[in-house]
Amino acid sequence: MDNRQLHRRTFFASGAAAALGLAGGSASADDAAPPGTLREAPRDVKVIDDCDVVVCGGGPAGAAAAIAAARAGARTRLIEANGCLGGIWTAGLLSWILDARNKGGIMREIVERLRRQDAAVGLSAEGASGSEAYRPETMKLLLEQMCQEAGVTVRLHTMVVGAVRDAAGRITHAITESKSGREAFAGKTFVDATGDGDLSARAGCSFDYGREGTGQAQPMSMIAMLVGLDPKAVSAFTRGLSSEKGQSSKARLLAEMTRCGVTPSYSQPTMFYLGSGLYCLMANHEYGVSPMSADDLTAATLRGRAEVHRLVYALRKNSPAWADVQIVATAEHIGVREGRRIRGLYQVSKEDLRTGARHDDAVCRVFFGVDVHSTDPSKEKGIAREGLRARAYDIPYRSLIAADVKGLLLAGRCISGDFLAHSSYRVTGNSVACGQAAGAAAALAAKSGKLPQDVPFGEIKQAVEKQPATQPAD
Ligand SMILES: Cc1cc2nc3c(=O)[nH]c(=O)nc-3n(C[C@H](O)[C@H](O)[C@H](O)COP(=O)(O)OP(=O)(O)OC[C@H]3O[C@@H](n4cnc5c(N)ncnc54)[C@H](O)[C@@H]3O)c2cc1C
Repeated sequence: MDNRQLHRRTFFASGAAAALGLAGGSASADDAAPPGTLREAPRDVKVIDDCDVVVCGGGPAGAAAAIAAARAGARTRLIEANGCLGGIWTAGLLSWILDARNKGGIMREIVERLRRQDAAVGLSAEGASGSEAYRPETMKLLLEQMCQEAGVTVRLHTMVVGAVRDAAGRITHAITESKSGREAFAGKTFVDATGDGDLSARAGCSFDYGREGTGQAQPMSMIAMLVGLDPKAVSAFTRGLSSEKGQSSKARLLAEMTRCGVTPSYSQPTMFYLGSGLYCLMANHEYGVSPMSADDLTAATLRGRAEVHRLVYALRKNSPAWADVQIVATAEHIGVREGRRIRGLYQVSKEDLRTGARHDDAVCRVFFGVDVHSTDPSKEKGIAREGLRARAYDIPYRSLIAADVKGLLLAGRCISGDFLAHSSYRVTGNSVACGQAAGAAAALAAKSGKLPQDVPFGEIKQAVEKQPATQPAD
């Protein structure tokens, strides 16, 4: 059979176009391929078929989803592109969990276990939303331990690149690429926790991105860890250490950088103390870049890392308080605030924030308000509330169920919502709560053979509430 005959036999799976069987390294020019493209030859892809629930993306939402699914008795796979679990918490070096203290379940367990390991630093309670700072390296290990204890099969270094649907529109496989080549992971129910909604988009789901109308999205940020600072000498610039009245620690840090001859791209640079001489610095904004473009991600990463080094070098050279400061790490993955918001059976909206919406199928209550990092640096480079004073509101289970593809749940920042609502619910205390609910629901759906929308919400609630925490190995 020549190449041309082979190509005629190629079939394409739903929106996942070419999810199955496109050749490993074999490609050629073809009459049927659009100009500027190659049509790859079909090939057989190894199917891994040993689980009920497949969770794609192992950030705060995905790790929680996988732990919850496994604890609910489902054979669970967690597929993560990075070399560690945690997403923005670890590869992104975030170190600060917002909307955490009002949450129970896995969120509370994580905070308690971090505290037991002396890796959580209580910051100001900040009203009802309460935040918690932690050391990212301990978080990496803790998430791995919790997944292992629950019986989750973790696959790191593996990128989800496609999806397959059956004739009834139900997702059947996630297609991946890794050092093992191209593989297909079969499952009964899937959870998209990739942050950017990669699995859902590949499966053919509709989605929204950025502001309604303009498509402008919040900037990315390169976060860094610093050492070599005396807490007393830099307390005025450090959130949580500063007891000085008047200007905020952010305003003082901006003034200090300006005095040293540099202007950060984020006009509210933030530094906080993680104990044992470790500090987290967020001073960079990368505007107008898309997480769906590898070129944009690359450019933002190179620019962001260079800026962080430039800022810290200027402080070291020009201010005695910073004379010994060192960057011990910049984030492995630049922090992405916003990707695709996949359309679900319910869209969380700014009206929900305005009215403090309540739902019978609430998976969690959000206390954190509107938090839009500037989408237009020509106007400003900080954070805006955009005139909306949010009241505490519920996230309904329906916003975690993909509208266009069956058997697919959403968790984390890719759940269904509008631009302003997303700016509020996206923070990680809520991502974990949504992940836990999605994981428990996925397990119930897989075990009963139902679609996620057909599982009675009471059963999901009960499964979440009675989940036993596994015994910590630490
Ligand atoms: C700079 C910055 C500051 C922030 N500040 C705060 C804060 O102070 N407090 C707070 O609580 N939240 C904060 N947020 C959190 C943030 O807003 C997110 O909403 C949060 O990361 C949501 O968690 P997630 O699990 O949905 O996504 P992520 O943390 O992005 O995790 C997604 C995971 O999926 C993986 N993945 C992505 N695509 C694929 C694929 N195709 N295949 C396999 N794996 C994939 C990624 O590697 C990652 O591990 C901040 C975010 C940023 C970027």
